[in-house]
Amino acid sequence: MASAQNAPSRPGSPGSRILVVDDEPVARQIVVDALAERGFAAEPVPDGPAALERVASDPPALILLDILMPGLSGLEVLRKLKGDPKTQSIPVILVTARDRPADLVEGLEAGADDYLAKPVDPSELLARVRAHLRTGDLLTQFEKDREDMAAVLEISRAVSSTLKSSEIFGILVDRTARIVQAYRCSLVLIGDTHDTAYVVASHDDPSVRNLKISLRKYPEIRMAVAQRQLVVVDNIQEDPLLAEVREHLGGAPFVSILVLPIILRENVVGTLLLRTSHLTPGFTEREIRICQLIADIAAAALQNAHFFESLELANVNLERLALVDDLTGAFNRRFFFRRLEEEFHRARRYKFPLACIFLDIDRFKPVNDRYGHLVGDRILREVTEVIRGSIRRTDILARYGGEEFAILLPMTSGEGAVVEGERIRQAVRTHAFGADVGPVQITISLGVSAFPGARISSVEDLIARADDALYQAKREGRDRLITTPD
Ligand code: GH3
Ligand code: MG
Ligand code: MG
Repeated sequence: MASAQNAPSRPGSPGSRILVVDDEPVARQIVVDALAERGFAAEPVPDGPAALERVASDPPALILLDILMPGLSGLEVLRKLKGDPKTQSIPVILVTARDRPADLVEGLEAGADDYLAKPVDPSELLARVRAHLRTGDLLTQFEKDREDMAAVLEISRAVSSTLKSSEIFGILVDRTARIVQAYRCSLVLIGDTHDTAYVVASHDDPSVRNLKISLRKYPEIRMAVAQRQLVVVDNIQEDPLLAEVREHLGGAPFVSILVLPIILRENVVGTLLLRTSHLTPGFTEREIRICQLIADIAAAALQNAHFFESLELANVNLERLALVDDLTGAFNRRFFFRRLEEEFHRARRYKFPLACIFLDIDRFKPVNDRYGHLVGDRILREVTEVIRGSIRRTDILARYGGEEFAILLPMTSGEGAVVEGERIRQAVRTHAFGADVGPVQITISLGVSAFPGARISSVEDLIARADDALYQAKREGRDRLITTPD
């Protein structure tokens, strides 16, 4: 069934499969039954070689492993599993005879995660199994979150380092296709009339730049546009949504479709369209979540691309002036607030960290008084350059006021921002400014705030806390960084 949804609802991980490896049929069956009774998918395995074979072909969530087995012993199986990077993270619980403690010590040394004594007590068995499955799940989730975060950051970096929309679109569809292993991933922009659209990039064909399509043939895109929600088609051959176009889908080499609306100022301006031919139809929660993030990045990129391209067309700097401070070339306050709203929204929605640094040049008035305003201006520009050299490409540097700057650090925790802030502080205090009049030494004071954090639930809080911290740094003697407590 096609479904339009706000939040992913498909379960992410399959049921927990447990291998029960034991050469004694009765002992094996007792454990299998106890697990099956509680809804675990327990699979009996009679010996060591069969266990290794099953793990290689279909890795289980956990293994219960008898030590004493003829042929390949449990300890040998354990060493093989823990010695192979592909299988070493699968939890193994050894099942041992009470009268052989030496085996147990050897097993724990070889990397067993836990042990149970025979005869196995069913309630103890279930408690151990649950505990290990929980850690396993958490770890996998953590690993995946980390990978996803890195992928999104990479896309975001790649997109922000290029200004040409065709390149941006190419990067978006390429990376998305790679993450989701799509058969085809395209970016489709909706035309003015809403029954026409344009494929502006398709990952399997770089020559596609502006292919006009009629939305009459794409009910899934129409639905995503009309409902402003993502649309999932698990199986194109069965879904009623595609009934009207099914005859054209005869030999389609894909099975499932995911359409993600790209929303700019409340309007669906386009969609990210993914088709897959995975063996398991549909999409996991993780895939949907990451694609939603990418659709958000696409929206921001479209906004910027439009901006930069209109600049190219008009060949004037008028629009640029509206975003950039003309003395320093940093973004202006207005642009800073606009991005802050967007980044805060994204941080809250996806539970990503977001940090903010406020910084102010120490005792700048005396510098102006001594060398004059023109030299002061030049130093301000130089300070901007030094700061720029110490931040990441994805950070947003803005001139907030006279000699005060604000930096927005997407996907960065308070700790990360402190590291970056200290780097900036050192870079400024060790730089020789205004070589023709000086050298002049400049120091700065910094305040750091971060979301999520104590007393920070809005954009205003994030700014107010950074500002408070900055003034505390001034009060405490300048040339220092203060961070708000978590
Ligand atoms: P502190 O921040 O450490 O308290 O001392 P300060 O002297 O930097 O602070 P204050 O806020 O009293 O003065 C800020 C000075 O910064 C005033 C002005 O001389 C200088 N300033 C602000 N904007 C500009 C500018 O665009 N160009 C130049 N040349 N100077 C500026
Ligand atoms: Mg100052
Ligand atoms: Mg000031």
